[in-house]
Amino acid sequence: MAKKESTADKLKKKLFMEKESAWNGIDEKKSASIMKFSEGYKDFLNVAKTEREVLAHIKKIAAKKKFVSIEKAKKGDKKLFLSYDGVSGALAVINDPEAFAKGFLMVGSHIDVPRIDLKGNPLYEAEDMAFMKTHYYGGIKKYQWVTRPLALHGVVVKKSGEVVNVAIGEKDSDPVFTINDLLPHLAQQQMQKKAGEVIEGENLNILVGSIPYEFKSEKDGIKLAVMKYLNDEYGIVEEDFVSAELQLVPAGKARDVGFDRSFVGVHGHDDRVCTFTGMQAIFDAKNSKKNMLMVFFDKEEIGSKGNAGADSNILERIVNDVINHYGKGDYNTLIKALENSAFLSADVNAAVDPEWAGVNESKNAGHIGKGVCLTKFTGVRGKGSSNEAHAEFVAKCRAAFDKGGAAWQTAELGKVDQGGGGTIAMFIAEYGMDVVDCGTAILSMHSPFEVASKADIYHTYLAYKSFYDYLK
Ligand code: MN
Ligand code: MN
Repeated sequence: MAKKESTADKLKKKLFMEKESAWNGIDEKKSASIMKFSEGYKDFLNVAKTEREVLAHIKKIAAKKKFVSIEKAKKGDKKLFLSYDGVSGALAVINDPEAFAKGFLMVGSHIDVPRIDLKGNPLYEAEDMAFMKTHYYGGIKKYQWVTRPLALHGVVVKKSGEVVNVAIGEKDSDPVFTINDLLPHLAQQQMQKKAGEVIEGENLNILVGSIPYEFKSEKDGIKLAVMKYLNDEYGIVEEDFVSAELQLVPAGKARDVGFDRSFVGVHGHDDRVCTFTGMQAIFDAKNSKKNMLMVFFDKEEIGSKGNAGADSNILERIVNDVINHYGKGDYNTLIKALENSAFLSADVNAAVDPEWAGVNESKNAGHIGKGVCLTKFTGVRGKGSSNEAHAEFVAKCRAAFDKGGAAWQTAELGKVDQGGGGTIAMFIAEYGMDVVDCGTAILSMHSPFEVASKADIYHTYLAYKSFYDYLK
């Protein structure tokens, strides 16, 4: 027989914040909807691995939901798709074109991922093998990227302007690429090095061939054979690498992790998890009369700079293009629309890993299974360089999440003075709107195989949808 609840127990329930795993106390039906949601997410992950692929795929999915590219849209269309250079963009749902000055409900994620890029002059020969030189993109532990199959994705743009799409290494019949490492037998010196130097940046070169042109030994014969293959297949010459964006990402599909399949493992949850859930949320949010935007930024992993990053005027351009479409593009409306908007900065957070629990302070850290992380501030050394959200706005967000049944938790990024980081919130705040960080807790962030809980993925979706549906 259950113990009778004491007065203290009752009072605790009323006064304390106790967040349980979102798996606890649910039924089979709820569990099935959590699992089903991640099936859709995995499909998305498997076809959209780079910022360009993500945006192109969003465009395709959104078209099925009656979103129209703004260039082709009529004034009466209420659902718009916007693209900027094919690497950043937005989905807009316009419920009231007379209310632009009142602001939008906005969720914004980034669609670039940490990865390894080819250099502008990559191809060389050594020891009767051909390799390509790379320059890594974003904060990675370089030693994690060796000895694994890598796929090559991206574009080469010829002098004529012709864009050649490349995707090699995802089909079973495709070859892959790899970065080799030293065998342990001869690694005595290497193993004494600091982890940051075990594999150095200039050692991240991929293996691409070893057969010389016409099977004849000659200087650069293997390099020639590789170039000939690329020329036959894609019509490119060596100089074309200068105007290319070719990215190496782990080859293969997203996988379920665990006997119970409660996790999804994949490279680049950061930030495709917030991208997918945000996209689904704006598709499904039907309750609000407000105007809504889901924004997709590039370049977050290298500081949000550049004209497609959040630290540019891209959000202003997006809002301007939307309101202009409905003939409301005066400067005052634009400024008011930005100022009066509310923004969820949708990016991942670190989940507590029991093996490395020391870097977190448990009461204020993201925990697996406890729902989306609401992060009032980020920053380093005393909240430095952080957008700290106003208490009033955070209150509105948690009220909306509760109303929509989204499990959420409060989370900082690591212990005080442990390190830290930041994402796009501080750049968005420059427009005067309210903004708070809010995203999924991840294990092994920035690694070739990041892990996220299916419950957290689902509740991230519910949180974004609740924000669109219920934010006051
Ligand atoms: Mn991120
Ligand atoms: Mn990141």
